[in-house]
Amino acid sequence: MPFEIRTFPTGQLQANCFLLIDKATNNAALVDPGDRSEKIQNMISIQDINVTHILITHAHFDHMFGCGFFKSLYPSAKLLVHQNDVPIWAGNVKFAQMFGIKAPKDYINQPEGTFKDGEVIQIGQSQVEVVLTPGHTPGSVCFIDKEGKIAVTGDTLFGQGIGRTDFPGGSAEQMRDSIVKLKKILGTDYVIYPGHGGSEKSGRAIKGAEMMI
Ligand SMILES: [Zn+2]
Repeated sequence: MPFEIRTFPTGQLQANCFLLIDKATNNAALVDPGDRSEKIQNMISIQDINVTHILITHAHFDHMFGCGFFKSLYPSAKLLVHQNDVPIWAGNVKFAQMFGIKAPKDYINQPEGTFKDGEVIQIGQSQVEVVLTPGHTPGSVCFIDKEGKIAVTGDTLFGQGIGRTDFPGGSAEQMRDSIVKLKKILGTDYVIYPGHGGSEKSGRAIKGAEMMI
């Protein structure tokens, strides 16, 4: 079954936080909670959603500073990131300081577990596939719902353009390979949900990305 997807720009950098809701069971994955958000908390509570996973596209602070807030609300939700981004996670307090942003009091200093490239994560009766797309960070991933033809692309692929590759662990060469990989998987008719900005058809987004790699 395809997911229902909800988007919430969150935190000072307005990174997109998503809820991927399996309508059959009302189980859901919370993706990239960049900050605490009563708005998201309220929606989850009003709609009686059961958060089973907290999934992180990449470990930059603007995509995970809300993990402590949401883990305390949904302690059984599994908090997962790609192994390659565990060192990035560890450097987040300092990285945020460069942007003049303080870590929250309930900051979680490491993830609970990791996922692998190609791993399929079951959420209720729906599934997302993890696709490793390094370049912005070494462990950047996209979460792909093949049935619903939606892809949560983090800071790898934006509606217009690609993520920066000049942060620690970034690589322009890996980014190039990741865009080629995504083009093969997504083709033209997926809808991509990036880490910043609005959604876009995969064909248009990849065309824009190809001009930058
Ligand atoms: Zn980032």
